[in-house]
Amino acid sequence: ISSVELTQHYLDRIAALDANYNSYITVTPEQALAQAQAADARLAEGDSSPLCGIPIAHKDIFCTQGVRTSCGSKMLDTFIAPYDATIVENYLKAGAVMLGKTNMDEFAMGSSNETSYYGPVKNPWNTNCVPGGSSGGSAAAVAALLAPGATASDTGGSIRQPAALCGLTGIKPTYGRVSRWGMIAFASSLDQAGTLTRNAEDAALMLNVMASFDDKDSTCVDQPLEDYTANLGDSLAGLTIGIPEEYFGEGLHPDTARAVQEAIKTYESLGAKTRSISLPHTHLAVPAYYVIAPAECSANLSRFDGVRYGHRCDAPKDLADLYKRSRSEGFGDEVKRRILVGTYALSAGYYDAYYNKAQQVRRLIKQDFVEAFADVDVILGPTSPSPAFEFGAKTQDPVAMYLEDIYTIATNLAGLPGLSIPCGLVDGKPVGLQLIGNYFAEGKLLNVAHQFQ
Ligand code: GLN
Repeated sequence: ISSVELTQHYLDRIAALDANYNSYITVTPEQALAQAQAADARLAEGDSSPLCGIPIAHKDIFCTQGVRTSCGSKMLDTFIAPYDATIVENYLKAGAVMLGKTNMDEFAMGSSNETSYYGPVKNPWNTNCVPGGSSGGSAAAVAALLAPGATASDTGGSIRQPAALCGLTGIKPTYGRVSRWGMIAFASSLDQAGTLTRNAEDAALMLNVMASFDDKDSTCVDQPLEDYTANLGDSLAGLTIGIPEEYFGEGLHPDTARAVQEAIKTYESLGAKTRSISLPHTHLAVPAYYVIAPAECSANLSRFDGVRYGHRCDAPKDLADLYKRSRSEGFGDEVKRRILVGTYALSAGYYDAYYNKAQQVRRLIKQDFVEAFADVDVILGPTSPSPAFEFGAKTQDPVAMYLEDIYTIATNLAGLPGLSIPCGLVDGKPVGLQLIGNYFAEGKLLNVAHQFQ
């Protein structure tokens, strides 16, 4: 099959089916077919790059030259990015074809994809339920076979939680493994790009292209690149898996707990040893995150002022009015809530009590993991407390929504890689199993995931 045929197949499916899911904000058929033609020419010349000619979708948080990059916000509804994000460029160089840009929670703030300016995304497993967020569009697109794989981003769980709720494999690499250049910033010390695919092998192929050292991102780490497909087949004999006791407490749905316990047995039958471990500061991860992430977001989102780009209000009276009305009109409620919390936490007199304290807690959370990884190779637990929930179930209660990420957020605070794979169904809805690795152990995580699949 040629890339043009394959690309046309996905474009046809999107045209026929995406009205049911709302997984794409922008579809780019003309560019996609032109890229597919170029890929076919490369293939004819013997190019053997694994992704050459393969269509993928990009989360709308990544800048794409000449194509609207909305970040799920009215603020950027008409913004055409003047350049490509480094990861977008990496995929173009590898010959991958971009089908379009996927829906997401506004500025990646959310766990259900209900905060998007472009409307909620529906979970293909059950369209009364959310797909998770913030990368819900990427997850729904892959789950509904409207793209074979998609890029995504994870600040507190936004790749792993939608992967869990949509029955996919989602990987958030180590902080610094993938360039953040051209990825619209939410909380810069936590944000990391990754992928959503149907299995670990596809994730390895996609991460091989996505990961690179980039001197345009000062937090990108100049660590040798590895071939993530190389060790997928390794035996798990002798592997030690740590099971944190704190991940099985109150709030975990009993059916999710059962599915994860079954997965532990599967790993034991594959030759892995399991042992109970403790991550004693787990209960502080959500509170620390909801100081640090809003603080960083309030600084990052100050650039949207109606002057240089983005939404501008009509007929401003003066500069203050321009700022005030452009931002009031351009941002949705959740984004405003985060900016208010963040500016409060950073204001004089509160900085030490909130922001500094949260940074100290972050250090303790990281230390928990450092100590755990002295004894175990990977850490295993649930990805999210329960399977996909219905629309509106948590929108009136921000704290209930924030607790969706109770098992994923600590990984971002520590900068560690994390992955979610499907491990069963509850009432016809997928359950996610989370695997957390040591720094730069993406290859190991993908191997452990692949052996399960
Ligand atoms: N749900 C979390 C939040 O709303 C995480 C989002 C993300 O990872 N981008 O902040």
